[in-house]
Amino acid sequence: MNAPTPVEEAGFAPASRIARIDVSEIVRIGARAQALKREGKPIIILGAGEPDFDTPHFVKQGAVEAIMAGDTKYTALDGTPALKQAIQAKFSRENNVDYVLDEITVATGAKQILFNAMMASLNAGDEVVIPTPYWTSYSDIVQIAEGVPVLVTCTAEAGFRLTAEQLDAAITPKTKWVLLNSPSNPSGAAYSEADYRPLLDVLLRHPQVMLLVDDMYEHITYDDFRFVTPAAIEPRLKNRTLTVNGVSKAYAMTGWRIGYAGGPKALIKAMSVVQSQATSCPSSVSQAASVAALNGDQSFLQERKASFQRRRDLVVAGLNAIEGITCRVPEGAFYTFSGCAGLLGRKTADGRVIATDSDFCNYLLSDAHVAVVPGSAFGLSPFFRISYATSEAELTEALSRIARACEALT
Ligand code: PMP
Repeated sequence: MNAPTPVEEAGFAPASRIARIDVSEIVRIGARAQALKREGKPIIILGAGEPDFDTPHFVKQGAVEAIMAGDTKYTALDGTPALKQAIQAKFSRENNVDYVLDEITVATGAKQILFNAMMASLNAGDEVVIPTPYWTSYSDIVQIAEGVPVLVTCTAEAGFRLTAEQLDAAITPKTKWVLLNSPSNPSGAAYSEADYRPLLDVLLRHPQVMLLVDDMYEHITYDDFRFVTPAAIEPRLKNRTLTVNGVSKAYAMTGWRIGYAGGPKALIKAMSVVQSQATSCPSSVSQAASVAALNGDQSFLQERKASFQRRRDLVVAGLNAIEGITCRVPEGAFYTFSGCAGLLGRKTADGRVIATDSDFCNYLLSDAHVAVVPGSAFGLSPFFRISYATSEAELTEALSRIARACEALT
């Protein structure tokens, strides 16, 4: 038998479950934008997936009090009783879904909830249906858990929503999960109760399939859109639905890293096994802050929503006024996902051809100093995502730079 090759000769080789996964284009563009900013370029970054608002004062106060009271030790594995009770009350008050405490889990961000769920449930080769465009982490997490993402394209014409026919056709005997996100990152599209109904009817006909719904942007919806979650619409699916949510977006708490979910006991227990060996428990102080957030006065959410809606209207109108760009009006979240097919094939002043959405985003960054993310990062081209979680002044400036850059193409 040959001796194994020393690491120093062979170089480090990542595990096959990691080797398939690339650093996301969002991270790459972000790094380039930051580098240009450091060089002194007046870069406007419309790539970030977090609110520009601060965490509310009463939430910070909850954390300070917890620190001073010595609430600084390991907590129960998947959430303190106080936080689980606050989540239980939130689910019944806002979503009309009742969970017992053993059906609730807390993790270090909704991202870890997704990670725990996939690691706890997927065997190698199990399929997960993911409507596209999708938040990049969905397919990457599924692949790390050795599952197979089954990507189903949802067109702009269909409002970036999955249809019942598409869902039915995507389900096979290997399907373990269907993953839905409403309002969506990156499209901002949301499912009303009427949009969900036919999809839930399909799932009722496939009793082996579980449903994961990511309700992260629940509190950021516009006009008269009424947010609903599938476990409330169809109680017969509640026992195979994982309802995922978190404090990051609604309460501007991305850095506190708390996400949570309600779902069937056996799944919740298996997820806690993953968590026990990954992190032991979420941060005690962040959990106390999240209790304050969920139990506190929720009225500030309305003001923030109104502010996001003004920004959405500004961005959608500005983008649709640019020849070659088409932007659907999103129902929620703080993203627009615009088509740029009309600009492909055109040339920049110095002769570069814009062949793809990636080329277009690179051009916007280098020539207009605006950082946006190409649709290819979310599995659907030719599109680009703008995050409008920034000031109206900055958005206005960014839109006029984008308009000028597009006009300069020939
Ligand atoms: N779901 C969606 C759709 C998201 O956009 C994000 C954050 N970008 C998350 C989940 C994860 O949020 P967190 O881990 O901060 O709770």
